[in-house]
Amino acid sequence: MELFDVIVVGAGPAGATAARTLGARGLSVLVMERYSFPRSKPCAGWISPWVLELIGVTPDQYANRGTLVSFSSLIVWDGRNVGREVKFDQIKGYGIIRSEFDASLVSLMKNVRFAEDSPVRDITRHTGTVTINGRYRAPVVIGAGGHNCPVARKFGRIRPDERYVTAVVSETRLGRDVINSLTPHPDIPQVIFHDDFTGYGWYFPKGDYLNIGVGTTSAERLTSHRDALMLRLKKGGMLPDRKRYPLNAFTGHAYKLMRISPRRLCSGGILLAGDAAGIAYNMSGEGIGPAVFSGLCAAETILAANGDYSPRSLTDYPRLLYARFGAPYPEKLISALSLIPGFLSPLVRLSAVTSRTTRRHLVARRWFFRD
Ligand SMILES: Cc1cc2nc3c(=O)[nH]c(=O)nc-3n(C[C@H](O)[C@H](O)[C@H](O)COP(=O)(O)OP(=O)(O)OC[C@H]3O[C@@H](n4cnc5c(N)ncnc54)[C@H](O)[C@@H]3O)c2cc1C
Repeated sequence: MELFDVIVVGAGPAGATAARTLGARGLSVLVMERYSFPRSKPCAGWISPWVLELIGVTPDQYANRGTLVSFSSLIVWDGRNVGREVKFDQIKGYGIIRSEFDASLVSLMKNVRFAEDSPVRDITRHTGTVTINGRYRAPVVIGAGGHNCPVARKFGRIRPDERYVTAVVSETRLGRDVINSLTPHPDIPQVIFHDDFTGYGWYFPKGDYLNIGVGTTSAERLTSHRDALMLRLKKGGMLPDRKRYPLNAFTGHAYKLMRISPRRLCSGGILLAGDAAGIAYNMSGEGIGPAVFSGLCAAETILAANGDYSPRSLTDYPRLLYARFGAPYPEKLISALSLIPGFLSPLVRLSAVTSRTTRRHLVARRWFFRD
């Protein structure tokens, strides 16, 4: 049996950030990751400036490591399929490539044992210790293995009727010339709400890459939303010739939003971070920032607990997350207001695409460019 101060399950943004913080403060840390890195990850690859601040890397430093495209506008399609640009006078976000971004976070981990190709299959908890795969033991474990994290499955009190978002994406390296021939707005993300407003599609040309995807709270309508989006893009001449420049297949997965169907974020010797905790932003589905933030908070909570990982000494952790993202909505309220699907009253939904003011102040500022 090998002993560590902390075991982290999953080396995505949440796990890598937590492990990096703990390793830097002198704890012995094991990160167990199912795949070897760099690994691909379905994602639009949109991050807010806050994310780079949290990881302590400047845009210039990051640009030396991988693709980084900055943007200060958002294009929101109106009800007539016309893209309306909402402009700001400062950088509001960046486009990154997830395999590069996640590998770069892993490369920042120091004094951490990184076990790649090491899926976690078995977790047992006895008083004061957690044992993984019958081989590794620690007094505290961070579950950061994404939506289906085995730690969350075992200790997260996941509701059988949990509500979540399903999203798929196709990202293809087409080259700048091809992208410029498809859109006069390279490097500006475009948002196209579904007709039923259960989510939105996006068209995000970034650097050499074209990233197209859809997300919805209504999983059974995912395919029809994807097909509807592709049809609208095709009609607008925004897709490349299929034979010369075939797009990569759509892939994706489910993940949960912060204020709906809460999971138990911590219990004795266990903390959940990132998608394992289910803390993506409700309106945009942005999950990288919340994952990095929760990884930092989980690490700081462990450091402050100073060896006492009883439920009582970890209670600051949910408080930190709720202070930042808001506490979960009562389930009764969600049902009563029909927040899913739809989230919004029909009037607000309609004005989100038709009114200039709502596009700027609600869609851009509050939903997509919040930091
Ligand atoms: C199609 C799509 C588009 C998205 N676009 C955006 C976007 O543009 N911007 C944004 O902010 N968010 C986006 N998100 C959400 C974002 O990708 C997630 O919220 C984010 O990746 C969460 O990070 P994480 O570290 O919690 O989990 P992950 O990034 O999923 O990392 C979890 C890690 O755990 C590993 N793992 C899983 N199971 C095990 C196991 N049993 N043992 C060991 N390791 C395991 C996995 O291999 C993985 O490396 C998108 C999601 C989807 C599906």
